[in-house]
Amino acid sequence: MQKIGRMACTCCGEVIPVKQQANGFAIATCNYCDNKLQAFGQTADSHIRAKMTPVSSDSAPAPTLAPVVAPVQEKKSAFSLFN
Ligand SMILES: [Zn+2]
Repeated sequence: MQKIGRMACTCCGEVIPVKQQANGFAIATCNYCDNKLQAFGQTADSHIRAKMTPVSSDSAPAPTLAPVVAPVQEKKSAFSLFN
């Protein structure tokens, strides 16, 4: 899964990585207290992303995330289901 940011664990408060599931929604698993915060829909995903610090604003020199607005929508893929 792709790491998209980090956030404080909602259970113990430790900083944990936030990743993106294959379905596009966010998930954060805490290795400190074994808590799992998993989005199953757009509402939960929005809340998790609002709490997290995006990974691109960390010390990473080159952003690997694609632009939010894709210029071309010609190709049909599994990801087009979420657009
Ligand atoms: Zn925790």
